[in-house]
Amino acid sequence: MITSLLGTSFIGYSRSSGNTAAGHGIQPGTGTVLEPTYLAASATEVERALALASAAFPVYSKLSGKVRAGFLRAIATEIESVVDDIVERGILETALAEPRLRGETGRTVGQLRMFAGLIVEGSWVDARIDRAQPDRQPIPKVDLRSMLRPLGPVAVFCASNFPLAYSVAGGDTASALAAGCPVVVIAHSSHPGTAEIIAEAVIRAAHLTGMPEGVFSVLYGGGRTVGQMVVKHPAIQAVGFTGSRAGGTALMESAAKRAQPIPVYAEMSSVNPIVILPGALARGEEVLAEAFFASFTLGVGQFCTNPGLVFLPVGVGEKFLGKLKSLTEASVAGTLLNASICEAFTASTAAITGVEGVETLARSVSVAGLNQALPVVFEVSIADFLKHETLQGEMFGPASLIVRGTVAEIEAVIPTLEGQLTASIHATQEELAVKTSLVDALQNRVGRLIFNGFPTGVEVCSSMVHGGPFPSTSDGRSTSVGTMAIFRFCRPVAWQSFPDSALPAELRDANPLEIKRTETN
Ligand code: NAP
Repeated sequence: MITSLLGTSFIGYSRSSGNTAAGHGIQPGTGTVLEPTYLAASATEVERALALASAAFPVYSKLSGKVRAGFLRAIATEIESVVDDIVERGILETALAEPRLRGETGRTVGQLRMFAGLIVEGSWVDARIDRAQPDRQPIPKVDLRSMLRPLGPVAVFCASNFPLAYSVAGGDTASALAAGCPVVVIAHSSHPGTAEIIAEAVIRAAHLTGMPEGVFSVLYGGGRTVGQMVVKHPAIQAVGFTGSRAGGTALMESAAKRAQPIPVYAEMSSVNPIVILPGALARGEEVLAEAFFASFTLGVGQFCTNPGLVFLPVGVGEKFLGKLKSLTEASVAGTLLNASICEAFTASTAAITGVEGVETLARSVSVAGLNQALPVVFEVSIADFLKHETLQGEMFGPASLIVRGTVAEIEAVIPTLEGQLTASIHATQEELAVKTSLVDALQNRVGRLIFNGFPTGVEVCSSMVHGGPFPSTSDGRSTSVGTMAIFRFCRPVAWQSFPDSALPAELRDANPLEIKRTETN
């Protein structure tokens, strides 16, 4: 039983005394209001958290990779020590099931340890050394050395759909801390208690490993008020966000209007198109339908990688559609994360039925309770799809749209799609070899291409790309999952003609950290 929740922000090593109620955790399935009341951080407290982060930066950013890794590993250990509390509160606040929350805790601590390993090894800083050539003609060459350095304090907005792996100590926080950036987290109103338990774990780890105060703060009070204050503050040097397109673009706008514009790494909306070619159907239409159904309904469809758009050639796939129809109709309602996601799902699935040419292929015949969604599949011709740009919009939840056209029409439509996190192509290897232009067109629109698989299930590893052209993210040159996520919070710095003793250890002649470097004599 969790008894220690206070409902206040973490301003460095102190707890806020805030006095304005920001809200409560709410059980989405019952509407039950959960104690305690969460209090918004005051403007003075926000200012203090940011001043502490600024003061922590010069100290924290100069700690060795080994020391920062000790902090990340301690966070992982502290989170594991309260996993039962996290799961107990998480179930209440999110309606996610225990195995999902335990699995997501495992992913969260795994990410922290992955970044710890990366910075202990140290080569990620991309050290480059061009030695001086005083005798070079016609002009001498100077000694130049460069490496990546952290940007400064980072604001992290928690995701409603990943209360652990993309929230208080999730991937954005882990990668920013690994890079050497203090973090100021804006808690999500959908799971404030879960956020508090994790925040306490991070603060305990910071104390245990002797981190400077201000390396980490968590603020309650919402993104639109407290979050905007943080993003507009000169102390903040970058932003990590996962959520709606409206939220992400509002933050991009605020960041761009600052006296010093800063990068915003927002992961927003994606419908993750799937292209099915006839050869894939020949291998088993019903099996394909089962796998697709499992993917678009996974986690009540609340994944950024949910496959919300399927291109299926006309004249084939009747068994695929038949199986999909029967599975969808027989499926049960699922509880969504919160009332506003339910409202958005209801509105988007109602709006699409009013669009010319859109038919409802199948909808679950079960009964939806409070904040529940019924899985649904729509169908439209490619001609009508092309007429209505709104059909490219995300229906966040268990919904998908099947688009029917010839293979040539499907290929022609791909370059007109918005930027996506992923695209999947179901085909034989022979079809793939012939359809290189289709694969190239898909590659130009996405961050990750999948062959004969589905986009849900994002492996956390060094080659993962969880990013893509706008609007799937605000900056398609980045990923928010995997070790490459650290590069979002760094910038290259070069040292010219510096004495060896004044250089960072990574750039000294003796290579004391024994990292991989690019060296030119
Ligand atoms: P959201 O509304 O974008 O909120 C995410 C965070 O951003 C919250 O802390 C929110 O604060 C803040 N925020 C929203 N608008 C803001 C603004 N104008 N300025 C500053 N901060 C702002 O996302 P959500 O609550 O997680 O889910 C709502 C919808 O987002 C869903 O229905 C779905 O369509 C989409 N979504 C997409 C993904 C994805 O991965 N593609 C993931 C989650 C959600 P407040 O508490 O003040 O609102």
